[in-house]
Amino acid sequence: MPRDPEAPYQAGPSQVGSRRRPAIVALEVTPVWDVGGGRFAALEAENKVAMELFAGIEAGGTKFVCGIGTGPEDLSVASFPTMSPEVTLEKAARFFGEQAGTKLRAIGIASFGPVDLDPASKTYGHVTSTPKLAWQSYDFAGAVARKFNLPVGFDTDVNAAALAEARWGAARDVLDFIYLTVGTGIGGGAVAGGRLVHGLMHPEMGHIRLPHDSRQDPFPGTCPFHGDCLEGLASGSAIRQRWGECARDLPADHPAWALEAHYLALALATLVCTLSPQRIVVGGGVMQRDFLFPMIRHQLRSSLNGYIPKRALIEEIDTYVVPPQLGNHSGVLGALLLARKAYLQRQ
Ligand SMILES: [Zn+2]
Repeated sequence: MPRDPEAPYQAGPSQVGSRRRPAIVALEVTPVWDVGGGRFAALEAENKVAMELFAGIEAGGTKFVCGIGTGPEDLSVASFPTMSPEVTLEKAARFFGEQAGTKLRAIGIASFGPVDLDPASKTYGHVTSTPKLAWQSYDFAGAVARKFNLPVGFDTDVNAAALAEARWGAARDVLDFIYLTVGTGIGGGAVAGGRLVHGLMHPEMGHIRLPHDSRQDPFPGTCPFHGDCLEGLASGSAIRQRWGECARDLPADHPAWALEAHYLALALATLVCTLSPQRIVVGGGVMQRDFLFPMIRHQLRSSLNGYIPKRALIEEIDTYVVPPQLGNHSGVLGALLLARKAYLQRQ
């Protein structure tokens, strides 16, 4: 069904950043066309940003990806290892300066987490309890706003990736979906009614608890908080520790994969039952082993056991659990959308 541009445009309460932090714009993190006021306002907003230049930062725990452009067709990117905040931001500034000079209008940050996304919080825009010491309690959005003197949009890397898949990728035609990434860690973003779910903080789908049969799989899990949560059992780190080899090196017929599909399908079943998504997009390094998709679909269908009588989960499950369409760039493209939205909210 084509996206109904009128449907999601209920103007929510304004969340423009408080006067205490004038350079930062806390976002209603919705696709950039969703600016309130329906189709006309959305088109007007698109026209407003069409000639402007925005930058995005996808900040991962090990890698920064910086991008400039208007979408997947004209994206220029640079990536470098994540070092201390000062060193890493200086590298980003150099790239943006070379690419755009002084023409940038706003910057979006798609950050590793956990982060504080509560616009009313004193620590809005901070990275909070990360194990990366130099980034702990770091005022990321504030530092970028001060360094560049521009409006800054800020959200998690997975929420940004979900936005980009909604705008240009695998979720263009649905308003309710989940984006899950299975890499070194596991994270997820949910879009409900065309809007990203934030709620109390942001979803932490990687830490869903799963049934874990310790006789079949004695591995205790890697999560420092929970041991055998989803991330603890099924992330790339868990695979490496359990089997002594990286996901990309394990042969396709290794027993690791049946177990991996089992855990991911259990998690997806939970997400289907709780959030009722119209699609689940599953990306990340582990999912590069694309033989996992049919295994997960099969086990998801078995796990739900026909209880939810929808074609999407039975006959059409191949188009229900799908890979992303924006490759490695969904995070940085989502960051561009955060920048556009920050700019529009400052107009
Ligand atoms: Zn956990």
